[in-house]
Amino acid sequence: MGNFIEEIIEKDLAEGKVDKIITRFPPEPNGYLHIGHAKSICLNYYGTAVKYNGICNLRFDDTNPIKENENFVKSIIEDVKWLGWQGDIYYASDYFQLMYECAVKLIKKGKAYVDDITPEQMKQMRGTLTEPGVESKHRNRPIEESLALFEDMKNGKIADGALVLRAKIDMASPNINMRDPIIYRVLKAHHHNTGDKWCIYPMYDFAHPIEDAAENITHSICTLEFEDHRPLYDWVINECEFEHKPHQYEFARLNIERTIMSKRYLKKLVDEGFVDGWDDPRMPTIAGLRRRGYTPTSLREFCERIGVAKANSEVEVGQLESCIRDELNAKAERAMAVLDPIEMIITNREDGYSEEIDFDINPNDENAGTRKVTFGKKLYIERADFEVVPPPKYKRLIPDGYVRLKGAYIVKCVGYDMEDGKVVRVYAELVEGSHSGEDKSGVKAKGVIHWVNADEAVDATVRLYDYLLLPYDGIHEDFSERMNHNSIEVKNAKIEKYLTQSAPLQSYQFMRQGYFCRDNKENGFVFNQVVSLKDGYKK
Ligand code: ATP
Ligand code: MG
Repeated sequence: MGNFIEEIIEKDLAEGKVDKIITRFPPEPNGYLHIGHAKSICLNYYGTAVKYNGICNLRFDDTNPIKENENFVKSIIEDVKWLGWQGDIYYASDYFQLMYECAVKLIKKGKAYVDDITPEQMKQMRGTLTEPGVESKHRNRPIEESLALFEDMKNGKIADGALVLRAKIDMASPNINMRDPIIYRVLKAHHHNTGDKWCIYPMYDFAHPIEDAAENITHSICTLEFEDHRPLYDWVINECEFEHKPHQYEFARLNIERTIMSKRYLKKLVDEGFVDGWDDPRMPTIAGLRRRGYTPTSLREFCERIGVAKANSEVEVGQLESCIRDELNAKAERAMAVLDPIEMIITNREDGYSEEIDFDINPNDENAGTRKVTFGKKLYIERADFEVVPPPKYKRLIPDGYVRLKGAYIVKCVGYDMEDGKVVRVYAELVEGSHSGEDKSGVKAKGVIHWVNADEAVDATVRLYDYLLLPYDGIHEDFSERMNHNSIEVKNAKIEKYLTQSAPLQSYQFMRQGYFCRDNKENGFVFNQVVSLKDGYKK
């Protein structure tokens, strides 16, 4: 059994109500798209248009020139295409003439009137859930007068906000959206598409159904907040006398724990410099996720796994992470990187000693082959893999203890140097005959640690990430009270030479550390953490 949208579509197809499914993804170009939008794209495009052999339009809902711009349009097209969408691009602003004509039609039918109500009065006169609204004194203004005033609005003769056009529906409707909503306003603003041609702009609830009707949309899928707007949607379609009648269906918007899901708020983070742009790898934007190392397939998989629901809920952030982890576990090449290096000197090898060792590029992929890693006298190991005073159950290197160097030899710690109270160097004796895979030494090492050979190591910047939001504590609802001021940690790492071949946005498993993706913006070897090796909140 499919989700409820699929059920509706299958029924409509079976009953011959529609023969070609046409959906749309209608972003407002007032910011970059986020993962919530990815869910909507997956549902409208893959889950509906592709599945039922229909089409899905990308339509910019660009009816508010103050907040929208060309840069956002460009980024949205790039992101939607990156997710795999194919189709035609439309702009709500291309229908401004049609919308205007619809408005005139409504006035002529006595279904709309020009009012001088202010936003404050609108609020006061709207009524409440239990009390009807108050009718404006202009509600019964003669049609000719409204027509003339609407022309004045259109022709730039009216100041911003001085007049509005309202639908004439029912001030006593139990649905407040039906209490004579504003459908047009005066706004002398430059529009990214229509320039200065218009100084009246339609409101969303009026514009959206017209856009859908104009494109012969069959199933207009939106999020639950619009459920109460559906009667108005239907009213506009009917009163404007469109022959094609699209229908609106609502599904639950995606919410993810510890994740900001609002363009408006994400814009604030960018504008205030809290993050390094819309594509900062910590951002839940599609551009940020891409730079973080997420792939289109992992985001589609996520949308499949979480499904489509009719009730709002919050998805665990681990569900998103496991989609990219599973994919990279199967596909990513492996390499070693030491994020917080200290030196290890192999005491029983000569200066300049070099030995080549074959490592699997990916043990989960038979066809991946092997890579050469050199072993030498001076290595780097992770600071946390050596402890002078080990905590309980510590399995890695301690003074006089043994550890296996991944893929290479067992070594015994025979000494260490400290500077300023910190270990800087460990001396270790290689156990002869202990080579991985052919160990005849009889020595047991409990732990395995990763390493890189100093002769070949390359400097790299590795960025570790935490969530932008602190966990919800049950009190602080507002995002601004939950900002995590420690969401990035930058490491000066030593990486295996093999990683210098990486391409921008190529991801690797750094053995024992997690998955990391080569940055696509910065020069030099910069890797961003994609996700940890295992599920959990720890970085
Ligand atoms: P935001 O508040 O982040 O700007 P929005 O809904 O105002 O979101 P739009 O650009 O108007 O953003 O949205 C385009 C489409 O994406 C709409 O159909 C909307 O319902 C859908 N959408 C937006 N956010 C989500 C979400 N979190 N989950 C699912 N769909 C979403
Ligand atoms: Mg919006």
